[in-house]
Amino acid sequence: MEETTEKRDIEQLIVDRLPKSEEILERAKKVLLSPTVTGPFRAPRGVAFIEEAKGAKIVDVDGNEYVDLTMAYGPLILGHSHPVAVEAIQKACTNGTVYDIAHEPEVLMAELMVDSIPCADRVTFNNSGTEATMHAMRIARARTGKDKIGKFEGGYHGVHDYALISSVLSNPEGPVEDPVSVPDNKGIPQAVVDQVITLIFNAPETLEKIRRHKDELAAVIIEPVPSMYMVEMGDFLKDLREVTKECGVLLIFDEVISGFRLAYGGAQEYYGITPDMATYGKIIGGGLPIGAVAGSVDAMDPLITTGDPVQDLADKLLTIGTFSGNPLTMASGRAVVEHLRDNPQIYDHINGLADRIKREVHEFAEENEIAFQLIGLGSWFIPHFISGAPKSPRDLRGLETLLMQEILCNYLRYHGVYLPDLHTGFLSAVHTEEDADKIIAAVKTSLLEMSEDGII
Ligand code: PMP
Repeated sequence: MEETTEKRDIEQLIVDRLPKSEEILERAKKVLLSPTVTGPFRAPRGVAFIEEAKGAKIVDVDGNEYVDLTMAYGPLILGHSHPVAVEAIQKACTNGTVYDIAHEPEVLMAELMVDSIPCADRVTFNNSGTEATMHAMRIARARTGKDKIGKFEGGYHGVHDYALISSVLSNPEGPVEDPVSVPDNKGIPQAVVDQVITLIFNAPETLEKIRRHKDELAAVIIEPVPSMYMVEMGDFLKDLREVTKECGVLLIFDEVISGFRLAYGGAQEYYGITPDMATYGKIIGGGLPIGAVAGSVDAMDPLITTGDPVQDLADKLLTIGTFSGNPLTMASGRAVVEHLRDNPQIYDHINGLADRIKREVHEFAEENEIAFQLIGLGSWFIPHFISGAPKSPRDLRGLETLLMQEILCNYLRYHGVYLPDLHTGFLSAVHTEEDADKIIAAVKTSLLEMSEDGII
């Protein structure tokens, strides 16, 4: 495609539409480390401050409306302020928001999860996906008496020390098939880095590496739909299940995103594979903060009471937290999860919309010879400026990819679609075919304009 001489300054065009947001941004810079969830990675320019969110739409303080694909990074499968969640929260909060004393709503939520999650005999609640994966790894270490954790290069499990090793932000090191563990950030102790064995998705080398390290590995944790390598991994997951079982290594599915989204029973139901433990967050909070670990009685033994308080004190783990399992979150989460259980057509709707958006965008990209794809499974996807299937997760990494995604996000926002920075976009039950039309049109226009502006 031909370049025009007049290039748009898309950031400036956005800034021009955000006078009130710009004023708040200046104040934010003086008191906040970052006004956006993705923190310092998004240069604080053209940041829209949101005033209200309803259904599939968000409106910023300057009155600009967007079709939201952020959906709070995934939790809002029913959309913003869905009456089911709002009514549950309103009703619950008049009864007290947190007790730190036993209450039935927590039991009801746990019953719902045990009924729907294949690996779940027992559930423990906390307040974020980060806490959930941290606890799951510790439970595995206590259960097996081994210290090391296997995790995947590019796999995201939150921001505790073990999770921030060879995750999404570090530069991969070592051979593709035998990566070396590297800390994502400064501040991660080398002693922790040494406890993490980094594996790669979809490769027989991974299975061999697990066999080689079986005497040290407590668990292998994997996102069954990897955030940054969203390809079908059913056969690999099956092999992983078999090898971990054979080696006495616990298998943890991180279902913080896929739980209740890929299917009602999550990736476990979708793939028909049952891990020993699984971690949850996002959707199960019904829009309020949550995390949870679910697992078999055998895997969760380090938390299960012996019936003897003295022995429990000596042997059992603490997963306590002031706000863990609070009645407000439990009520909201239960209302949303029950709604999903009772309305299975929601999954056809969100998956169908995502399929249509991907299909039409891919046809357009092909026709216009633009190397571009929305890579994803189920109802979520992430843009990548590549053509053809990625050969390795490393094809989808690197600063250049992140920067191109950022630029596309700016164009999309200018055209009224809010795709999150550095994250997958999500559809919800309240996104309509008209929203899909708008998303498809915005992607097409953005790609053409990026081409005109000499960016692609
Ligand atoms: N695991 C996965 C797979 C996630 O996607 C996330 C969050 N995006 C987390 C863990 C961490 O969850 P939280 O942000 O609630 O700490």
